[in-house]
This record gives sequence, structure tokens and C-alpha cells, in this order.
Amino acid sequence: MTQAVDGMRANSSGGVDPYTPGHGSGDWTALHYDLDLDYRLASNRLAGRAVITGRAAGPASRLLHRIELDVAGLKVTRVNLDAGRVLRFSLRGSRLVVTVAEPLTGGQEFTLHIKYGGYPLPLKSVWGELGWEELTDGVLVAGQPTGSPSWFPCNDHPSQKATYRIAVTTDANYRAICNGQLISHTPRASRGTWVYNQPEPMATYLATVQIGRYQLDRSSTSPVPQFIAAPAGLREAARRALVRQPEMMALFIELFGPYPFGAYTVVVADDVLEIPLEAQSLSILGRNHLTIGWESQRLIAHELSHQWFGNSLTADSWRDIWLHEGFACYAEWLWSEQSGSLTTEQRATNAWRGLAAEPEDLLIGNPGAVNMFDDRVYKRGALALHALRTSVGDQLFFTLLRAWTTQFGHRNVATADLVTVADDVCAGVTGFDAAELLKPWLYQTRLPLLPRPRRD
Ligand SMILES: [Zn+2]
Repeated sequence: MTQAVDGMRANSSGGVDPYTPGHGSGDWTALHYDLDLDYRLASNRLAGRAVITGRAAGPASRLLHRIELDVAGLKVTRVNLDAGRVLRFSLRGSRLVVTVAEPLTGGQEFTLHIKYGGYPLPLKSVWGELGWEELTDGVLVAGQPTGSPSWFPCNDHPSQKATYRIAVTTDANYRAICNGQLISHTPRASRGTWVYNQPEPMATYLATVQIGRYQLDRSSTSPVPQFIAAPAGLREAARRALVRQPEMMALFIELFGPYPFGAYTVVVADDVLEIPLEAQSLSILGRNHLTIGWESQRLIAHELSHQWFGNSLTADSWRDIWLHEGFACYAEWLWSEQSGSLTTEQRATNAWRGLAAEPEDLLIGNPGAVNMFDDRVYKRGALALHALRTSVGDQLFFTLLRAWTTQFGHRNVATADLVTVADDVCAGVTGFDAAELLKPWLYQTRLPLLPRPRRD
């Protein structure tokens, strides 16, 4: 079993990921980002100032001569370091390389002050266009997985969770929406400044800025404040489409444990979006997602569940993306049953039949960069959880989910961590071995048989 567990821990060396080569740095850890952005909608001109607190990696004997960050399509005009002199800085492709005059020692904290700006554009990738994007009337940021360098210099990897303060100054009559809590809004004649604080650690890809003519409505106060930000013309349609979201929230809190953040906001862009987007403490829907049919409702449930799985518990390496998407897909099925639609069992059976008709050539626990968002990762990941539930019964399964979020909330996780928690929670089940149970679902291409439902 030990060997199987070992195989479930990715070999990522602190931020450098084979799925996203050239992104992230294992030489330092990001602790806090303080971003001040000034953005003009008409010209798409962004002027930014980033104050980044970090810590040099490794033991005190290790010397750090260069700090590398990711930034793409923007100019960097000034870099200062409070812990010493910057000898020089240069942009090499999408890497900002800061060479320091006196090397930092492992464990030493430092603060970088970076002035940058330009005309941000979405970045081309194997997953499509990512990052800062102009809407018909506003801005959207699609960070996952490598879009963040399009709008701020960062250590761009999900293992680099940090706290944030984001301030956005933009045109009056527009609302800027970022992660976390709105601290202040200072309106002026033609411009306004919005300041947000994100006190829980956040992966770079989940950091976001949404700008639009949004009106903010509170859709629920309890147990978690929930908001809808939509353009005036979509306000009523958004309210109707999201009318059951407070029930989803209540169900997920019951099954997954406390909601991990202070509030939850759904932003409805005044554009058609191919897929909704997840960000920490908020989700972004397109105007095309505002229906009460299953296809929209499942997406609304899916994005909400990412607050637990993906945002609070974040994969330490992209190969474990099933820990986000498999769980979020399973959350859809749980909501399906609760809402009076198909049961979880029926959803699982349908998904299994669909997968049986697909090529069996993907390892769900290591799908490869290009197939990271393949629908089979979602469905078969959810089936892996269903197999787990079937083998231990409802009571232990949901105890396990809550133990998972309690022990690893706001941290990075690997499949091996899930195995440890599952073995711990299910220690009393004769013959139970989480690694052995998950192996055929995650690490073999052939689709396992769907386990028969168990009645507690
Ligand atoms: Zn998802």
C-alpha cells in the first residue's frame, strides 16, 4: 500500500510543475500580494503596482541570488527590494528575473515593489485564451490555470497560496469585483476605487478582477452572505436562475463542512461565456447560464462546490486536478438528488455508461497537461468518489468528506492525503484500503465496473 500511496504524491518541487513548464518558482514562497491597479476601460490601459511579500526557500545556508516571477504581455518599469539592492531586472519571455546585489538566505523574508503596466491581453495556451480579457462592456479574468501573469507579477502555481489585498481604480459607473471582502469604495467624479481584502490563502489562478456595470443584490444572508452582481438588464433573470443557490449552500455545508470564506458572490457577465469560471469567494456566469434547467443548475452547483474543493483545498500539483473537478462533479450529482431531479445513483450510472462509450486511454490521476480539463477527469473522478461511498456507506463517506475539509482546509493537497484521511476515517471497515480502491479509477486506463449500491 505504501508504494501505491507514494505514487499518489506528485513529484513537484515547490512550485515547478511539469504540467505548466516555465511557470512558478520553487526558489521562493509567496506570502502576500498587495496590488494597486488603475484601469481605463476605453483604452484597455492598466497601470499596476505590486508589493509582494515572499520568503526565500530552503535552509539558511542556501543563497538566493535571483527572484523569478511570472508576468506576461506587460512592461515592468521599476523593481525595488526592501531587503537589499536590486542589481538589475529583466523580462525574459514571460519571466521577470530580479537579480539582487546581496543574496537572500533561505527562510529570509523580503518585499518586492514592482511598478508595471501596459495593455493586458489574454494569453494563448493549450487550454485556450487565459487571463485578462475585455468584454463587450467591461473586463473578465479567467485565471485557470496560467492566466494570472497577464495582470500581475506572481509566483504562478497553485501550491503558492498567499493572502491578497487588491485595489482597482476604474471608470465611474462601473463596479470592480475582486476576491474576498470589499473594504472600501471611494467614488470620485469620473473614477472610483474599490479595495478588497482576501485574508484566506489563495492560489494565483483564483485571483480575479471583474469589471462591469454591475448592480449588487444580496440573495441570502444566512448561513453565508450571498450576492449576485449583474447588469441591470439581467438582474431579474439572474435572481430567478440562482433562486435555489441558498439551498445548495445549505446542502454543501451539511455534507462538506463550513463554507470556507466570508461570503459568496456570483457575477453575471453581460456576455455569452463558453463555461462559467471559478474564483476564490466568487463565480462568474455568462448571460447564457441563467436558466432553471439542469444544464445551468448543475453548473451553479459545480462552481459553488469549488469553494471547498479547489479553492480551500487546492491541489499541490496540476496532475491532481481530479481533486477539484471530480469532487465538483460529484457535488452536482448530490444536488441533483436533493433538488428532486435524478438520484446520485442514476447520475453515476449515466456517467458510467457515457464513459464506457469513450476511449479508455486517460489516467484520471495524471491526465497530462492537455487533458487536464477533459470531461472524463470530471466524470470518472466523481465515480471514484462514488465507488468510495459505495464501499464504506453514506455515514462514513460524508464523515470522510468533512474530515478532508477540516484537516486540509486552506491548504494544498495530494491524492495521498485523501488516502490517509480515508484510511483513518474508515479504519473500522474490514479489508478497506483506500489506495487499492482508488487505483483502478485513477491510475489505470481501463474503466472499472460500477460498484453495486450499498444500503446502510
Ligand atoms: Zn470545475
